[in-house]
Order: sequence, then structure tokens, then C-alpha cells
Amino acid sequence: MSPLDSKHPPAARANAREQAGLKARGLASPPILKGSDGEGSVQVHQDDTMKIDGAKVFAVYGKGGIGKSTTSSNLSAAFTKLGKRVLQIGCDPKHDSTFTLTGQLQPTVIDILKDVDFHAEELRPEDFVATGYGGVKCVEAGGPPAGTGCGGYVVGQTVKLLKQHHMLEDTDVVIFDVLGDVVCGGFAAPLQHADRAVIVTANDFDSIYAMNRIIAAVQAKSVNYKVRLAGCVANRSKDTDEVDRYCKTVGFDRIAHMPDIDAIRRSRLKKKTLFEMPDDDDIVMARAEYVRLASLLYRGTEEMAPAPLPDREIFELLGFD
Ligand code: ADP
Ligand code: MG
Repeated sequence: MSPLDSKHPPAARANAREQAGLKARGLASPPILKGSDGEGSVQVHQDDTMKIDGAKVFAVYGKGGIGKSTTSSNLSAAFTKLGKRVLQIGCDPKHDSTFTLTGQLQPTVIDILKDVDFHAEELRPEDFVATGYGGVKCVEAGGPPAGTGCGGYVVGQTVKLLKQHHMLEDTDVVIFDVLGDVVCGGFAAPLQHADRAVIVTANDFDSIYAMNRIIAAVQAKSVNYKVRLAGCVANRSKDTDEVDRYCKTVGFDRIAHMPDIDAIRRSRLKKKTLFEMPDDDDIVMARAEYVRLASLLYRGTEEMAPAPLPDREIFELLGFD
């Protein structure tokens, strides 16, 4: 009888298929995979040596263009106002995460590694870490070439490089600023390192829909990793009624509100965070909100476990607009 005959239990058949696959690929043992990372997941499990010890690690998620980098950079600056030593890691191929902190578009870790043929030992920390406003250490992981490669690989290489150069020691806070929408497991790589995930959303259907998917992804990751949801930041919106309605329905928290303020647009043109802008009323208010959020996150938030909505229900809850 063939090992794949249906008379064998499913687990035995899966085993036989895996063995055949490994043999075909000339591999002695499988990569370490954990199916419970999500239905059908082929996520590579984090190597224990890549753990970030000591620092509090936050991952900022949200739909593309929603304000993740704006939130991350101003939050990093706010953490320095609390006396914390901060490292921000941009994980978007756009590599503009730390732009307002350093005033420049930094080269990415992946480009730098390519330049030395991936001989990481040839690099010095100053080759890939820039020091920005308030002493924030700024790293841009970059992305795989468009349409190929895996974002998770890029994040993994970046954390490895930071570890090799002891850049994660003497750091109180690490912020991962992670690219846009949930399209594949690669985007979830920073969740393997994070203590808390923060979601940036506007008061509209599309970004709340994206938030719902991110919540599902974080919940799936929290089975195997310590990551938990901290809450969401309502950004670039005067009102928060839709965000609040969604939060109430799924059991989630809005932990900050940042209206649409022109000073944020201007701060980007000036290549500065809000903390280096003039003391106008709206700027003073926005800074205070970022400092409030930073101290809330540093003190620690409840472990939230919201239940994401099936697509049909989220359409019903928020309607189409
Ligand atoms: P993401 O990182 O999510 O792609 P960004 O942080 O780069 O998004 O923000 C996209 C654009 O929106 C930027 O030009 C930024 O200046 C602007 N922006 C973000 N948040 C606000 C806000 N609260 N008010 C006004 N403009 C904002
Ligand atoms: Mg960004």
C-alpha cells in the first residue's frame, strides 16, 4: 500500500508527502515551520537567537499612506522626551520611515548588504544606522525587489545585522514601522519580535477594513509569540465615530487621536518631526498627544484580544462609502 493511501491517517500521509518533498529538494530536514501561525501558513519560525531582549518593542501597522511613518517618527521623538533611547526600523521598500528624524532618505540595509555581497562582517554600524533627532537610531530595512522576494527575509536580515553589531543593546524602545496592507506572511515578520502592535487608521472604511485584517494577523501570531495588540491610533481624521463603532463591536481600544493637521504635511516638507517645529497651538497639541501615547505605551497596555469581523459583517457595520 502506498504511504499516501487514504487508509493511512491524515498526519501520516502529510508526513509521507513532506518526506517526498524534502527528498526531491535534496534537503535532510525541513525548515522549522509552525502551522499554527495561521491556516496554511508556511511562515519560518523565528530563531531564538534573534530575540530582542531588554527593549520594549512596538510594531506600527496600517494601510499604505495612512500615517504609519508619521506616527512612528513622532512617537520615537516623543519617547526621547521621556528620556528613552530609541531605535526605529523602517520596514517599507519606500524607505522614508525615518525621513523626518534624519532629514534624509537613508540607504537600505538590503542595498548596503548587496554592496558587500552580503558579507555583513565588513560593515560598521554607521554604514546602516543613522542618528536622528533626539539621538534616535534610524535604520531602513528596505524591501525585496518589487514582485519578487520576501519582506520577511529583509526584516530577518536587518534584525540579524543589528544583533551582530550589538545595536539592540542599550536601547529602551524599538519601533518597527511596517509596510501597508496585509498581503502575505512576510509583513508579519516584525510581529515575531514585537511586544505590542499598534494600528494606525483613519475614520474611513478602507483603513478600518485593513485594521480588521491586521487584527486577525496579530491574533494568529499571538498563538506562538508574545505579541499582543495595544490599540489603534485614529489619524488624519477630525471625527472618530466609525473607528469607535468598530472598536466597540470587536472589543478594541482607540489609544490616540491625531486630527488632520497641516503642520504634519509641512513638517515632512521641512524634513523634521513636530518636535522641531515652531510652538503653534496645533503643533503643541499634537506633540502632547504623541508624548501621552508614548508614556501610555511605555507604562504598558492591557493585552487586548479583539475578535476580527468576517468581511460580510464589517461591510454591514460600516456600510459602503
Ligand atoms: P505611511 O507611512 O502609512 O505610508 P505616512 O506617514 O508617510 O504614511 O503619511 C502619508 C502622508 O500623509 C504624508 O505626506 C504625511 O505627511 C501625511 N499625514 C500623515 N498623518 C497626517 C495628519 N495627521 N495630518 C496631516 N497629514 C498627515
Ligand atoms: Mg511609511
